[in-house]
Amino acid sequence: MTNPLFRDQILARLAEDLVGPLDRYEIISDRPTQRYSTGILYPRDAQIEPEEDEDGGLAVNITEDAASEPEEAGVSLHAALKPATAGLSFALEPFGTSVHPVIRIEVACAVYRRLAVDDAGHEVEGPPRDRAHERWRRMPLSAVVDMELRNGETRVDLAEHGIEGLELYMLVTPHVDLQTVTLALASQRSRGDSSAFDEEQHFFQVDLQVAIVTNGRFAPRPSRRAQTDEDSRTAALIYRDVKEYVVGHTCSARAILDGEAVAKLKIEWIPAVIVPRVSDRGDAVFDSLHQPNDDRRPLEAEWLAKVSAPDLVEGLERVVAAYQQWITREAMRVSSLPGEFQAQANRHIDRCRLGAQRMLEGITSIRTDEDVRAAFQLAQSAMAMQFRWSRKGTALKWRPFQLAFQLLVIPSVAERSHTDREVMDLLWFPTGGGKTEAYLALTAFIIMLRRLQATGEDDGAGVAVLMRYTLRLLTVQQFQRAAAMIFACELLRRRAASGDIGLADLGTAPIGIGLWVGAAATPLTLQEALNRSPGDPSTPEQLTTCPCCGAKLSWKLSPRESTVECTSDSVTCELAETGARLPVWTIDEEVYRHTPSLLIGTVDKFAQIVRKTDAAVIFGRGTTHAPPDLIIQDELHLISGPLDSMAGLYEVAIDELCRADSVRPKVIGSTATIRRAEEQIRALFDRGTYQFPAPGLNAGNSGFAVTDLDSPGRLHVGLTTAGRSATYMLQALVASLLQCGEQPRRTEAPAELTSRVRSYEIRDMLERLNKSAGVPDAVDLLVASNMISVGMDIPRLGLMVVNAQPKTLSEYIQATSRVGRGDAPGVVVTMYNSMRARDRSHFETFETWHRCLYRDVEATSVTPFASRAQDKALHAVLVALVRHLVPGMDRRPILDDIRRAGAERVASTIEARVARIDPAERAMVSQKLQRLVDQWASRRDLQTYWDDYNRRTSLLMSAEQFAAKADVDPDLDAEGARRALWPTPNSMREVEPGAPFVLRHVLKTEGN
Ligand SMILES: [Zn+2]
Repeated sequence: MTNPLFRDQILARLAEDLVGPLDRYEIISDRPTQRYSTGILYPRDAQIEPEEDEDGGLAVNITEDAASEPEEAGVSLHAALKPATAGLSFALEPFGTSVHPVIRIEVACAVYRRLAVDDAGHEVEGPPRDRAHERWRRMPLSAVVDMELRNGETRVDLAEHGIEGLELYMLVTPHVDLQTVTLALASQRSRGDSSAFDEEQHFFQVDLQVAIVTNGRFAPRPSRRAQTDEDSRTAALIYRDVKEYVVGHTCSARAILDGEAVAKLKIEWIPAVIVPRVSDRGDAVFDSLHQPNDDRRPLEAEWLAKVSAPDLVEGLERVVAAYQQWITREAMRVSSLPGEFQAQANRHIDRCRLGAQRMLEGITSIRTDEDVRAAFQLAQSAMAMQFRWSRKGTALKWRPFQLAFQLLVIPSVAERSHTDREVMDLLWFPTGGGKTEAYLALTAFIIMLRRLQATGEDDGAGVAVLMRYTLRLLTVQQFQRAAAMIFACELLRRRAASGDIGLADLGTAPIGIGLWVGAAATPLTLQEALNRSPGDPSTPEQLTTCPCCGAKLSWKLSPRESTVECTSDSVTCELAETGARLPVWTIDEEVYRHTPSLLIGTVDKFAQIVRKTDAAVIFGRGTTHAPPDLIIQDELHLISGPLDSMAGLYEVAIDELCRADSVRPKVIGSTATIRRAEEQIRALFDRGTYQFPAPGLNAGNSGFAVTDLDSPGRLHVGLTTAGRSATYMLQALVASLLQCGEQPRRTEAPAELTSRVRSYEIRDMLERLNKSAGVPDAVDLLVASNMISVGMDIPRLGLMVVNAQPKTLSEYIQATSRVGRGDAPGVVVTMYNSMRARDRSHFETFETWHRCLYRDVEATSVTPFASRAQDKALHAVLVALVRHLVPGMDRRPILDDIRRAGAERVASTIEARVARIDPAERAMVSQKLQRLVDQWASRRDLQTYWDDYNRRTSLLMSAEQFAAKADVDPDLDAEGARRALWPTPNSMREVEPGAPFVLRHVLKTEGN
């Protein structure tokens, strides 16, 4: 149904419905201000009526999700004036100083005149009898004015040019060798003395266009963008072709090009821009790898899994050679760039070369190390296998970037002492680009490698990979994908164990997957899981169907263990053939018992390492296994604000727990919407960064990611609430969208995806969303909070309405990229609230910033050692590390002299990290740690680490409890705090403990 033409139909329909007219001399029966919603200049004293302002100007319920709350409260529209002006600003370069440029301004608009009709609908003389006999006739108006550009203000009454009651205002200001010009139309009309007469005082379908007649040309508006850091220098280079020629005022505006030159500037009430798709096939240099008739097929996982070592190496080398060819081509272009960009361009080329070098090193390791090669090929087998399961037999073909990323990372994940272990490799790919598959391949690789390298006591089992997400929605969906890959690995292991020829021994411990997310989604103990009541949202059953055959899974619980089985027989299910039981654990107790090879958790959950000694096994502590070798931090941009600071602090503990013989785990991650990634990664992970793919000379081509001009891309449309309430506009917009098309679709009640929805409902919702229209239970309309901006991959979503500009650009990009991922070209309509300055600015410059969407992503603040974060959780990090790392400290918190030395060693480790990340805080942290150790050592009465109910003998208590009881409990006064009873957060998200308070009515009665 949806095709590019249909999308254009939507846009045309919006313009007809919201701006008008349907016909040049139309006669309409609705009052014009009711028929049309935007593109209007109101009488200059028109106030916004209170009934239009029922929601304070915001079409949202602001008690909704805290995260989607608008960052500024809407200004009440009450008594605010409706817009009586609209215009645009631009810059112009005069030809010489002796002559003035002349511009031609074309104004068009319409007024609607009231007329009367009889019962048969024929026009009659005199005023209408009543509203039913009232009609409105469109009277088109236009004016053309040529103006000489002299500095200063000019006003032209357009009455002399044919439009009575409209004034043209012009302000010209010199700016270096340019002239900047602001042009505005201002209504001079006043409100009518009756509502009917009032209608005639409005100008509708207001249009303003500017062209140059002589002596000048349009120039890009002077940029106020300072190049202060590496990111802004990169942006200046790769977006050098994006120029802003015009901005709107009240409305939006755009430049009409004639080839390279700007022919005309014009205002726009419904601006629309296509944001092109990014192709993951890569630059044309990779085309030779896609040739179907070649017997070397390095992009095909199945080929990679099976070929001989020399063929494998040769095939992989072709991938890197193609990239090197691209680098050479770009390097040759540097000298033709304007001088100011050349140094930066050379830096980019160097980064690209470094990447290619590392990929070659990956190939060397595959060539020279038998285990690395075997692990790589087993990983390819597993990936190919799970892909066939999910795509009904389709073979997995890598996109060049996915394979290149694997090669890039392999040496430093395989070799524990590799120097790039200290570098976080950040996969930087526009949303929706198959990053997960690249991670999963690396996950399979390291799991297999550990098994192959098993020696002596260590059988290569244990948690090999920690995959961390920030939100539960993401976690559940990713869990399902990752489970398929893990089961494929386990299937290979079982086949090897049963003597399948050609498979290396992969040990006896199952290769399994665990989910570690928190009690709201999964139970902590088997007993808890058994005791839960039906409908309890916390359930171990996080996987419902067999990834291999699609049959329902059967979950069984006993006080001793839980089991998950595929219900198919061994004939229909490849997996069930080797044993029905699946290695998946979602109950904390079992996660600790089985230490699954891949553990997927939320960032928050890691705050638990302070409370639970059990969790230490995840890091290999107290087991014969090596600690995790790989940490995957997906969607890095989501770790921001307070969560970021807390996560950064806890990261100190996690990093230390994963460290063995001074070796730290490899960290990889992804994002496409982050600025100053380098700083953020330094602060969070205490590691350097390699962004992959490294940027080239243009934003549209990094070798691996290339702007795809053949696909329709995503159409972004803007709409302003100017003169209307947000609710009114939202209704008008949605009404128009729903009626669009030859046969308006019958819609069911909207579904909801917000934080009010429980985890298991989210899972069901994702399944429902995948059902195509017309199928029973399919979703027609979905109301979503910003929750939708995270990792949701539903190909059928085609149209999104965004209510007001999201808090950050990153969120806008993430949320809007959920539509148009499949075959349907996406449309995003964003409604900008003209009462909010940020929204207005986004609307007025709509076209420009959409053309370099990723450029202006805001930098997030990174302050893990800020003093507030220290106050909240520095002690937690100290306790976690002492508890897990200092011998004899795991159960009882008594810090005697010997153990105190251990605690001081831990303190100096933390201090050293602060010195690297945030030297300014070092002294403060050092002092605080010293004081913490002193306080702790002085408490010889301690029995437990954490007990909210026996505070006199506990070292920690929950921050929430502390805040709630601080006023009424003498243990918690200043004296208590001095005795070191440390309030500690339960999760990283609730960074400020809630303090319940009671409103007492007594005061009021006493006062009177
Ligand atoms: Zn099955």
